[in-house]
Amino acid sequence: MVIMMEYIIKNGIVYDPLNGVNGEKMDICVKDGKIVESVSDKAKVIDASGCVVMPGGIDSHSHIAGAKVNVGRIFRPEDSKMEVYAKKGLRSGTGFSVPSTYKTGYQYSEMGYTTVIEAAMPPLIARHTHEEFMETPQIDKAAMPLFGNNWMVMEYLKEGDIKACAAFVAWMLKTVKGFAIKIVNPGGTEAWGWGKNVHSIDDPVPYFDITPREIIRGLAQVNELLGLPHSIHVHPNNLGHPGNWETTLETMKCVEGIEAKPRVGERETTFYNTHLQFHSYGGTSWKDFESKALEIAEYVNKSKHVVVDVGQVTLDETTTMTADGPMEYDLHMTNGLKWANCDVELETGSGVVPFIYSPKGPVYSVQWAIGLELFLNIDTDKVMLTTDHPNAGPFTRYPRVIAWLMSKKYRDEWLYNKVHKWAQQRSHVADADKEYDLYEIAKVTRANQAKVLGLSETKGHLGVGAEADIAIYAIDPEEKDGKKIEKAFRYAKYVLKGGEVVVKDGNIVKEIFGDTMYLDVQVGEDLMNEVLKDVEEKFRSYYSVNLENYPVSEEYANSWRVIKIDATDIN
Ligand SMILES: [Zn+2]
Repeated sequence: MVIMMEYIIKNGIVYDPLNGVNGEKMDICVKDGKIVESVSDKAKVIDASGCVVMPGGIDSHSHIAGAKVNVGRIFRPEDSKMEVYAKKGLRSGTGFSVPSTYKTGYQYSEMGYTTVIEAAMPPLIARHTHEEFMETPQIDKAAMPLFGNNWMVMEYLKEGDIKACAAFVAWMLKTVKGFAIKIVNPGGTEAWGWGKNVHSIDDPVPYFDITPREIIRGLAQVNELLGLPHSIHVHPNNLGHPGNWETTLETMKCVEGIEAKPRVGERETTFYNTHLQFHSYGGTSWKDFESKALEIAEYVNKSKHVVVDVGQVTLDETTTMTADGPMEYDLHMTNGLKWANCDVELETGSGVVPFIYSPKGPVYSVQWAIGLELFLNIDTDKVMLTTDHPNAGPFTRYPRVIAWLMSKKYRDEWLYNKVHKWAQQRSHVADADKEYDLYEIAKVTRANQAKVLGLSETKGHLGVGAEADIAIYAIDPEEKDGKKIEKAFRYAKYVLKGGEVVVKDGNIVKEIFGDTMYLDVQVGEDLMNEVLKDVEEKFRSYYSVNLENYPVSEEYANSWRVIKIDATDIN
């Protein structure tokens, strides 16, 4: 056994929402990778005087690894020139919006993040995602396989066979080493195979004759039957289209009445709406485009079953990438920039298009305002900070988003001096006086994520028994200077990962490799055998690969963390 260092973090001001600790000066003890009650007098002292101490950051939705991310890297050499990472003793890397793998791990770590979830893994090419995870240092990670356009899912749900669909999902999660059920433009990506899309949640999918509503509701039932740690993770239909706010509300409503039944963790919600900013649009075209953030926020606040992440536009040049194939085609037709498109047989598709969110662009300025409005009007227990990296901006801008949230003065500097006046005219962001405090920042960057992902037993808090994933920032809790806030959160004073100091004064001082987490869900044997017959038949008849070549095998991680779930009562 490796003997690990003992640490005592002294005199920091601690923000730990899952334990109700709001800005108390207290010491945190660390031993053998965990947070403990006390340590011996040999423990190394980390002086956190004048600093803020939080659990390690958790990103519940980011695109950091896999085939489409790599397409972004390959077809955007101009992006790789925008930022170069070269530090002594570390791997070099490039890329501003689509950084190379090592740079991704290092930069998350510099910001105090210790766990990141890759938000879209096509099952057929899951190996690529896991291969990149193995080259992404500093963080624990997991990937969410795409289920919302899968032929077998649509067929089982069309037949109303929730149990068989659940067994299929369980098989898939274990086979491709996935973490949760991701749904992207349900039915729409499959329709894109015919050059079509779906435009409402009751628009049938060509050939399969099932509606997005049936897919979403069915997969929510499957999720709760299996009792997965996370809820369904949904990118609704009509992303990025003026007037889509009504589709978003319909989508959230369509799972009402389904009860959260996690077998692991303490999640109370059944619906995670990702990058809500892209789904809160009013108007009928880009000409009369306006924010509907307040209407959406009102529904989210009163709905026990919903949590959201924002997908904040950061007003940068970036690279969009999504399994929403038809949306990327629309985007390419709008901005005229290059476009990559892919169909993943029987499962999903994807597209990649560069995007320049100029602050002077009227539409982009409203998108920026909508994200902030959501943050400022949704209950801070129900919202999470993301930029849908890199779709609305790179994750390295999180510190700037934090600064916009904590300082109205800083937000107003942008609103009145930098962005187009549409932001004032077509949203209510100017009316919002709210300023986040550090307790709320800790909620939206770590505590909420831990809870909703079902990881809060050991992640996202600083109680005894938690993993010693800790971020220490040199910031005064009363700070209102946006630039200072941004700098403090961009380069942590210290970061501990698994009980080891990995960042000091914003520099990586130790390279480590975290775990890859996945779910091993056991359902009843007879049911699984029936479903396996269907799987074998699909591979024989349709797939261009052999079933034997499909699974992600054991060597595809530096270290696995298996979350076992006994659902053998489903048979
Ligand atoms: Zn995404």
